[in-house]
Amino acid sequence: MAFITLNKAHLFHNLHILAIKAGGKEKLMAVLKDNAYGHGLRIMAELCHEFGLKRAAVKNVEEAKSIADLFDEVLVLVDAVPTEKLAHNISFSAHSYAMLESLHDGENIHLSIDTGMHRNGIKENEIERAMEIIVQKKLQIKGVFTHFRSADELNSEFFWQRSLFERAKKRIKALAQQYGLPKIAFHSCNSAGLLRTDTLGDDAFARVGIAMYGYNPLHPSFNPVLLKPVLALWAEKLSTRVLKKGEHVGYGGVYEAPYDEVISTYDIGYGDGFFRFNGITSIAMADGSVSKGRMSMDSFCLGGDAKEVCMFENATTLAQEFKTITYEIPTKLSPALKRIVI
Ligand SMILES: *Cc1c(COP(=O)(O)O)cnc(C)c1O
Repeated sequence: MAFITLNKAHLFHNLHILAIKAGGKEKLMAVLKDNAYGHGLRIMAELCHEFGLKRAAVKNVEEAKSIADLFDEVLVLVDAVPTEKLAHNISFSAHSYAMLESLHDGENIHLSIDTGMHRNGIKENEIERAMEIIVQKKLQIKGVFTHFRSADELNSEFFWQRSLFERAKKRIKALAQQYGLPKIAFHSCNSAGLLRTDTLGDDAFARVGIAMYGYNPLHPSFNPVLLKPVLALWAEKLSTRVLKKGEHVGYGGVYEAPYDEVISTYDIGYGDGFFRFNGITSIAMADGSVSKGRMSMDSFCLGGDAKEVCMFENATTLAQEFKTITYEIPTKLSPALKRIVI
């Protein structure tokens, strides 16, 4: 059966480097959204907990509930307002007035500020009104955050957004003091932001996703930090045959054997969340063996007869082949695939 391996030493290596950058383990929030970028939510949450991380961010309430026992705080990034009252250590991202208005009184929130990405968050001139709603509804404002739209790109937008966030911080701190609110945790950096900056300033922590999983999102011209990919995908052989010269394999018969060759079929397909091989270009596996023809829903063919094959242990080249970003390759992998920590 196909499986995923998760390399604990690699994860801890990455977390160690990121913790040094951030100024301590307590200054990292593990971003475990979307089944931990496809790595497996519970298993990655347990490893992050073992490393000593105290905070995590997830996509929705369901994900938050499944790991709330492991962290001091779990932040829900993108869910509709929950109908139920959440556990004391689950916080909810409030992206608009409407969300603030519709939250239960007393709920824990992180207020999201739009500093230029224009995806979510309230605008700077909406801060006063938002703080009024928060106080009226006795919402517990645990944090205030923003998100950078291009911290990974070679331009100065990161600095522009950061200065807008600093301005918003000042306003919020003054209002918090006026209302007598407890200390608020400010946070802004994603992986690229953290790797790019020398200091978090007075941000309480960075929200790290892709770097923790072993990919450096920064342009190579930045000082390169060696991170090690955590996830590898393995397929197991179903059968082997000799494809005779001139025979075609798979749907559409798009691959024709140029000579008699040994090929084998493996138990991963696009139904497992892998990008579909179109058969027009050949894709190389980690061991150098190459795909033959189109991928089916549950299987694909390779030259050779290895019993097991590592489809990738570093998603970078596949991301280039499929014209996407590294994030997308692991994130799509089916939660049903078995995950093994090595
Ligand atoms: C996904 C996400 C992150 C993590 O981003 P990486 O680039 O993977 O580090 C941080 N903050 C928010 C709001 C996110 O949605």
